[in-house]
Amino acid sequence: MNTSITTLRNPARRVERVVLGQATSDGAGVKLTRVLTQPLQRRLDPFLMLDAFGSDAASDYVGGFPDHPHRGFETVTIMLEGRMRHHDSVGNVGLLGPGSVQWMTAGRGIIHSEMPEQEEGRMAGFQLWVNLAARDKMTAPAYRDLQADAVPVLRREDGVAVRVIAGESEGVAGAVTRPTTEPIVLDITLPPGRRFDAALPAGHNAFVYVYGGSGVDVGVDAPQRVESDRMAILANDAASDGVRLTADSAATQPARVLLVAGKPLGEPIAQYGPFVMNTTAELQQAVADFQRGVLAA
Ligand code: MN
Repeated sequence: MNTSITTLRNPARRVERVVLGQATSDGAGVKLTRVLTQPLQRRLDPFLMLDAFGSDAASDYVGGFPDHPHRGFETVTIMLEGRMRHHDSVGNVGLLGPGSVQWMTAGRGIIHSEMPEQEEGRMAGFQLWVNLAARDKMTAPAYRDLQADAVPVLRREDGVAVRVIAGESEGVAGAVTRPTTEPIVLDITLPPGRRFDAALPAGHNAFVYVYGGSGVDVGVDAPQRVESDRMAILANDAASDGVRLTADSAATQPARVLLVAGKPLGEPIAQYGPFVMNTTAELQQAVADFQRGVLAA
């Protein structure tokens, strides 16, 4: 039990912009909400995409994501509810259950499938794409499955709970640490009226996505309300050391918030579907390698 409550010593980050995700489908007809879309990749460098999925209807997810390739970045799958089976060209097999996380480094190439292992019930979670630096894009592919109990949780006496998926929070080391982009990924549960101050390096680009309960107030002075199912891009402020999130005191359910931050790469971003490189020529090479069957060889 951790009883400390961080107090931000410097101005807290404020909301720069609130974004409502776009309903779309991907894979074999899986319905999802694309929260972080391509036009935001530069602003939220090193993050390339955030999809949120959540449905009780099997027809929304049962097609899953059959075999498909990736090159040049990392995919992070955060399961909240339901079960997905992973197979890949490296030979990894994994079952992602509620609360589990999969961190996959596509590097020079991987072909994988992500298929629901259920025909009814609720399926919910996120997929986040984290870019790799130019020098790391052709690294060997790697994969980690983290079951729910392998994700460290910061629990406070006031009911605030923070699953530290990546990075660090109040001295709790996350399940995953990555060099270069130094991502911080926190899954935060905030009971009504409670607050959480998250330390964030000033140079990191950062956003929050409110996905459950009622809205949260972001900031200290004149905080801005961010309603559920919305992303708030946090302003970069060289003098700021973090962000304050406060749940609505009149709420009946805890607010659920995904907080994501990372160090920008500042490199050109070229994307063609599941390939993210630095130049068009590198994308053409990725397509050619996939067509010749050597992308994941
Ligand atoms: Mn994939």
